[in-house]
Amino acid sequence: MSVSVLMYHHVLPGEGFLAISERQFRAQMAWLAEKGYRTLTAAQFLAFKRGEWRPPRRSVVLTFDDGWRDNHVFAAPILREYGLRAVLFVVTGWTEAASAAPAAFEPLDHRGCKSRLAEAPGAVVCSWDELAEMRDVFDIHSHTHTHREHHFGALSWEEDLARSRALIEQRLGETAPQLCWPRGRYDERSKAAALAAGYRALYTTRRGINRPDGDTAEIRRLAVKHSTHWLAKSLFLFSNDPLGRLYARLKPE
Ligand SMILES: [Zn+2]
Repeated sequence: MSVSVLMYHHVLPGEGFLAISERQFRAQMAWLAEKGYRTLTAAQFLAFKRGEWRPPRRSVVLTFDDGWRDNHVFAAPILREYGLRAVLFVVTGWTEAASAAPAAFEPLDHRGCKSRLAEAPGAVVCSWDELAEMRDVFDIHSHTHTHREHHFGALSWEEDLARSRALIEQRLGETAPQLCWPRGRYDERSKAAALAAGYRALYTTRRGINRPDGDTAEIRRLAVKHSTHWLAKSLFLFSNDPLGRLYARLKPE
C-alpha cells in the first residue's frame, strides 16, 4: 500500500495563490471524515515508511508549510470539528519573531503575509503559545529556522537546522523533529546536514506515492488543489501503487 501526503499552506476566507478557502477546506475535511479516512501523525507516518506499522487502508497525511497564523484561526477549528489532524512545518525564526512581537491577526494572502514578515511577524505567523494550543490537532515540525531567506539574518545549513531543531525541542518539548524543505529545494549537502542534525524524515515538494520502503529522506507530497473532486481522484490514484507510479511518471510535476 502507499500513503498520500497532502501539502497545504494557507486557509483563508477566499482562495488564492497557495491558499485554499475556508469553505473548500471544510468540504475536503468533511469528505475525508465521511469516507472514514484516518489522518496519520508524523510519527505514525514515519513508522509506516520504515515498514514498522501498517496503517488502515484509508490513511492520509495532511501537511501545512510555514506556520501562517491563518492555520490557527481557520484550519485548526475545522480539523477539530471533524476529528482530523495535520502536521505543521514551522519556520522557527519566524515563530520566534512573531512571539516577540504580538499583533492583531491580519488575514492576508501569501504575498501579503511575506511582505508583513519583517515589519509585523506577529500579525501573520503563529506564536509559540498558539502552536502549543494547536497541538491537539497539529504535530509541529521544522521548515528550517530561516526558510533560507534573510529576513532575520543568514545562517549556514548546519546552524540553521540545528537551531530549528533545538527551538522546537525547547519551546514545545518535541524531541523527534521531522523536516520539510523550503520551496522543496535541497541538495546532497543539505540532505546530509539534515540527517546529521537528527531529522528522521525529510519532506519534499516532489509528487508521487509513499511506500513502506524505508526511504524516509525523500517523502513525496501532493500540492492540494481546491476541489473535493481533485482530492477524491488523487487519493484514489495515489493509494494504488502501480497506478500512482504510472500517473506520477506520465503527468509533469
Ligand atoms: Zn515554505
